[in-house]
Amino acid sequence: ATLAAGGEEEGRRRLTAWLRDGIAAYEDRNDDLAGDATSRLSPHLHFGTLSPVELVHRARREGGAGADAFVRQLAWRDFHRQVLAARPAAATADYRTRGDRWRPEREAAGDIAAWREGRTGYPIVDAAMRQLRHEGWMHNRGRLLTASFLTKTLYVDWRVGARHFLDLLVDGDVANNQLNWQWVAGTGTDTRPNRVLNPVLQAKRYDPEGRYVRRWVPELAEVEGTRVHEPWRLGDDDRAALGYPAPVVGLGEGLERFRRARGR
Ligand SMILES: Cc1cc2nc3c(=O)[nH]c(=O)nc-3n(C[C@H](O)[C@H](O)[C@H](O)COP(=O)(O)OP(=O)(O)OC[C@H]3O[C@@H](n4cnc5c(N)ncnc54)[C@H](O)[C@@H]3O)c2cc1C
Repeated sequence: ATLAAGGEEEGRRRLTAWLRDGIAAYEDRNDDLAGDATSRLSPHLHFGTLSPVELVHRARREGGAGADAFVRQLAWRDFHRQVLAARPAAATADYRTRGDRWRPEREAAGDIAAWREGRTGYPIVDAAMRQLRHEGWMHNRGRLLTASFLTKTLYVDWRVGARHFLDLLVDGDVANNQLNWQWVAGTGTDTRPNRVLNPVLQAKRYDPEGRYVRRWVPELAEVEGTRVHEPWRLGDDDRAALGYPAPVVGLGEGLERFRRARGR
């Protein structure tokens, strides 16, 4: 794995570079998976090698829409910490239960393994899961769509995913991780608990040229354009010849199961 370097000196170097080169375009580019245009300061915030208060002060000094958007993200960090402080049980129990009876882990074992290993057959999900394994970090858009895929498309308990993330994330911390998982699973503070992210639409929107997928899923490196997001369209033989798996579940089937489970 290629982990980010740590320590205060490195954190300050990164922060200075971010304020100089990155923050101005943050509002426009923070969701661009391939562009990788977020600060990557999360490990430093997690370990305390940078202080969030200093970050806010220095970002504000820069000013502009990018700095405002960046400070708003830092506010999410603070929000999750406050929720957890008020409700410590939310580390392991639903913040707002939806009465889920998640698939038993034994029954879903094959799907869970495919998700962890990045071979679900949905390239954008697999790319993000492989980034996590390789870098101990994952882009926020990747975290959102892989978490949605596990909890809603596969209907697996958010705790299973949160545990895997905490095992591998360099910035993994209980407040941000568990409460973001709950947000995505719809058991947390999201006001639209039943929203399901469609991985194909997400891929086309946030990786429009397919560069992120080609970077992390070498089996698909030669597939050009947005076709890389739907390898099942290549035909079974061509897809199999690339050594890339078929989807673990159809999106329609996943959606049906989820809606039934939530009584919608
Ligand atoms: C399922 C899931 C699990 C997550 N687990 C963690 C985790 O364990 N640790 C963690 O620090 N973040 C977590 N996040 C939030 C977010 O994905 C990361 O903070 C962000 O990707 C870190 O990259 P960055 O420093 O480049 O972020 P930037 O976009 O540069 O944002 C700057 C800082 O703002 C804070 N921030 C940004 N987005 C969020 C958010 N949604 N919630 C809370 N804080 C945020 C972080 O401290 C981040 O370093 C999770 C998100 C999801 C959807």
